[in-house]
Formats: sequence, C-alpha cells, structure tokens
Amino acid sequence: MTVHGIHHVTAISGDAQENLDFYAGVLGMRLVKKSINQDDPSTYHLFYADAEGHPGSDLTFFPWAHLAPSRKGVGLTTEVPLAVPVGSLEYWQERLMRYGTFLGALENRFGERSLTLSDPHGLELALVESDDARAFTPWEQSPVPVDKQIRGIHSVRLWERDLAKTTEFVTTIMGFSHIASENGWHRFGVAGAGSGKLLELREVPGGQRGQWGTGSVHHVAWRMPDEASELALRQQVEEAGRRPSPLIDRFWFKSVYFMEPGGVLFELATDGPGFTVDEDVAHLGEQLILPPWYEPQRPQIEAALPPLTAPQLPEKA
Ligand code: ZN
Repeated sequence: MTVHGIHHVTAISGDAQENLDFYAGVLGMRLVKKSINQDDPSTYHLFYADAEGHPGSDLTFFPWAHLAPSRKGVGLTTEVPLAVPVGSLEYWQERLMRYGTFLGALENRFGERSLTLSDPHGLELALVESDDARAFTPWEQSPVPVDKQIRGIHSVRLWERDLAKTTEFVTTIMGFSHIASENGWHRFGVAGAGSGKLLELREVPGGQRGQWGTGSVHHVAWRMPDEASELALRQQVEEAGRRPSPLIDRFWFKSVYFMEPGGVLFELATDGPGFTVDEDVAHLGEQLILPPWYEPQRPQIEAALPPLTAPQLPEKA
C-alpha cells in the first residue's frame, strides 16, 4: 500500500484577512472551505484550492496571528512549490511585483522554470511551470485568467538532518522512488511522479531544529484512495515504529497523522468524500462550516472569530 500524491498542505499564517487577500486575491485561488480548527474553535481553518477542491490542489491555513514567526530548520517543510502553466511565469512576475510580493529569482529546477516568493507572513512558496496532466477545474471568478491559474501543489520541499533515515522510510513504507538529485536537493516521486506527486529533500547536517510559527508549514497530507488502503498503510507505518494516530474523521476526508523519522508531521488523507459533501459546488466557502458537535455553539463561535470580507488586492508597498 502506498500514497499516490500530495493531498493538501496545511500552514500557519498571521491575520486571517491578510491571508485571504493574498491567496484568493493575489494568487487567485478559490476559498473552497471556511471552517474552524477542530481542536481550537476560536481559529479559522481556511482552504484554498481549484474551483472544485480537487485533492492535491488544496493549501490550507490556521491563522494564528498571536504566534511568533517560525524558525526555518530541519524537521520542517520549508517550501511549498505550486504548479502553474508553462509560459506563465512572466505574467506572475509582473502580477506579484504589482502587489508588492517579495520575490526571489527565476530558477531552473530539475528542468522546470521556477519563481520563488514569500507570502505576507513569511511562508516560502514557488511557482513551477509544468504541463504534467493533473485534475484541475478553473475558477471562473478568479482575478487570475484561467490560462495562468495555479493548478495545485506541485511538490513539497523538506529540510532533514539525516537524509538516509527519511529516504529509507519514504521509499520502503510510502512508495516513493528517487528520481534525480540537483544542487543539494533530492527529488522523489510516487505513482508515476510528476506534478503533485513529488517530494524533495535536502540534508542539512547539524542543522538547527525548525520551529512552528507564522509562516511555517504545519503538515503535509498524502493521498490515499480510500479508508481501507489508508488503514493498511497506517499498519505499515505503525510496524515501522512511527506511532500513527487513530483514523480521524475530518468530514471531507479521513486522516491519520504521524511524524516521519526526521520530525516532519505527515498526514494520510482519503480522496473522498471531498468538499462538496456539505456544500454545493457553486457555493463552496461562502458559509462558516462547523463540525456537528460545535453546531450548538455556533453563535458564540461566530462572534469570537474575526469577520472576513471579500478579498481586497493590496496596494503596492
Ligand atoms: Zn491536514
């Protein structure tokens, strides 16, 4: 039993409205679910994806503005590359500069053109040009034209103190194969590899342990076709000594959590039932969705959450 790609990435942001303005406004992704952190109902859980919330297109945030900024280091996912159409990076460079986004250089990574950037709270992203086939539904109401829109999560980049331990785990337990190495990065792929099915590791021997905070990734979730295969892989993870959580029902998918040997938090998540299980696809993300056990407290929960308004495009700094 193996994973078959990236399901979603969850990160920690600062102010919720600034997060919405950037991801729905500047990057033009669709807010497909507006919910709460199931362990901390005073915090939103915001989900950005393609128009239908396909598994693998979904970047989610806990806005914890009171946290200190994260510290980059080993045992963390240090960058989230997003897939964009081939030939779109000049459009993106111009758009991101117009809205004052902090941009890095245009690079060539494993033969693909890439542009690095930081979101308003310090999360490191990249846009990577790729024409690999993947499930994608354009968001017609996006401020970004359909032929330039983000297709989903391309890969994840992790810093590790000991490359060998994580490599052994992801190849023997999760189904990854080594694809190529370049400039200190080791690319692994699963299920045929390509956009949405890639994991990139960098060894930083003696590196300081990274710390969660605003601007850090919280966890990476990997796709499982169904609950039975997820439980089978959970068993393999347990036999490898990684102490996985029980299966947890997240309504839109079922989840198992564990730490890979280098300390990065991983999740297994089923492809179904998906974000349309509790909202019509035409109205995804418009209402605050609560887990049923929180419904009786809806008035208090809504009153405690900061109000969110339609995304505003920031003025250039
Ligand atoms: Zn998750």
